[in-house]
Amino acid sequence: MANNARITVNSTAAFLKAQKLMPGGVSSPVRAFKGVGGTPVFIKEAEGCLLTDVDGNQYIDYIGSYGPMIVGHANERVVAALSKAIGRGTSFGAPTEAEATLAEKICSALPGMEMLRFVNSGTEAVMSALRLARAATGREKVVKCIGCYHGHLDSLLVSAGSGALTLGTPNSPGVPQSVTANTLLVHYNDLEGTARLFEQYGDQIACMVIEPVAGNMGLVLPAAGYLQGIRDLCTKHGAMLLFDEVMTGFRVAWGGAQVRFGIRPDLTCVGKVIGGGLPCAAYAGPAALMEKISPSGPVYQAGTLSGNPLAMAAGLATLEILEEPGAYESLEECSSRLAGGLAEAAAAAGVPVALNQIGSMVGMFFSNKPVLNYADATASDTAAFARFFHAMLDHGVHLPPSQFEAVFVSLAHGEDVIDTTIKAASRAFDSVKL
Ligand SMILES: *Cc1c(COP(=O)(O)O)cnc(C)c1O
Repeated sequence: MANNARITVNSTAAFLKAQKLMPGGVSSPVRAFKGVGGTPVFIKEAEGCLLTDVDGNQYIDYIGSYGPMIVGHANERVVAALSKAIGRGTSFGAPTEAEATLAEKICSALPGMEMLRFVNSGTEAVMSALRLARAATGREKVVKCIGCYHGHLDSLLVSAGSGALTLGTPNSPGVPQSVTANTLLVHYNDLEGTARLFEQYGDQIACMVIEPVAGNMGLVLPAAGYLQGIRDLCTKHGAMLLFDEVMTGFRVAWGGAQVRFGIRPDLTCVGKVIGGGLPCAAYAGPAALMEKISPSGPVYQAGTLSGNPLAMAAGLATLEILEEPGAYESLEECSSRLAGGLAEAAAAAGVPVALNQIGSMVGMFFSNKPVLNYADATASDTAAFARFFHAMLDHGVHLPPSQFEAVFVSLAHGEDVIDTTIKAASRAFDSVKL
């Protein structure tokens, strides 16, 4: 599927029009190719692991909608479930049985998470979980890791900061200093620095929020003992541990990273996969805690489209596929084959890369040292990534258009597709050196 001499006139025209009507021509920033330059590929349709653009070019897809498409695009079981649901009406503003069915499936996969509340996006889930943690502890400070992303809520739109421990300053205009003043920053994988912060502020900390496997600075894995270490710190200081598994939930394992690493957070956010490609997310916790949410309790949170019947149908169909024996083993096999193949191809071409992989996520950094945190991630060669990205696009492989996004494998990526990808990469690595 080499798209050599790829024609992109229709994407170019679509992008010109879109830029007049929407900031950057997109509905979410990374789609605009700012990190790699050039014109974004406008998608006409997708099936399995293949994207077709508006000019008729095909690509093996490793964006996976940034996480949700774990069973592949237009999966026939998901489409059948959606078709059945759509004829029955698309939103009622009244409860449906499907909500409890999906809630039961999610909660049963997450030990200790007895109840959940559905929302429409990961941002909403984290924002609401944070409100709950603050209400339950009567404390206001929140600890966050530099380089972790938790959606675009004001209070967590903070990641910059050079010192080991910094009081939060906003990194978007429009976010008031007063809102981020209660956000405390630590380095990912830095247990000692985090312990020092807890020593100083422990009795004011409502919760520590973390991506247990970081997927928004590229893919960065937790060091051995790190997650247990922060679990112990939170317990010791009476703070809650909030696992933001919006990306990793039902992605790195059935349930998520908390199951894979055997750590029990106090609150969990899930999203992406649980909506099967429709807008859906949730926050979950023990019943006694979740009962504090309105209307059972005083912590207010609501949503016109929350628990939407189409999202419930797509989410349930997706989880039913993932629940079948062998699904996660096959995802793991494919993504480790991909990571191994990329490492070999890079080595053969003499291009230094650092590869991280877990479950169906792969992170490849153009770096000559291991990547354990944000500082390591941002030290990688983004210009080399941009050249590699465009070469891959020309060879019919659509990676996420940023060095700092994870690569997502789905059940529709078979061994052959992985091997085709590795062959394309072998050629693309040569253009990196130019
Ligand atoms: C994607 C993501 C979010 C935000 O979810 P949206 O649905 O984009 O609002 C939050 N946390 C993590 C870890 C994510 O990967």
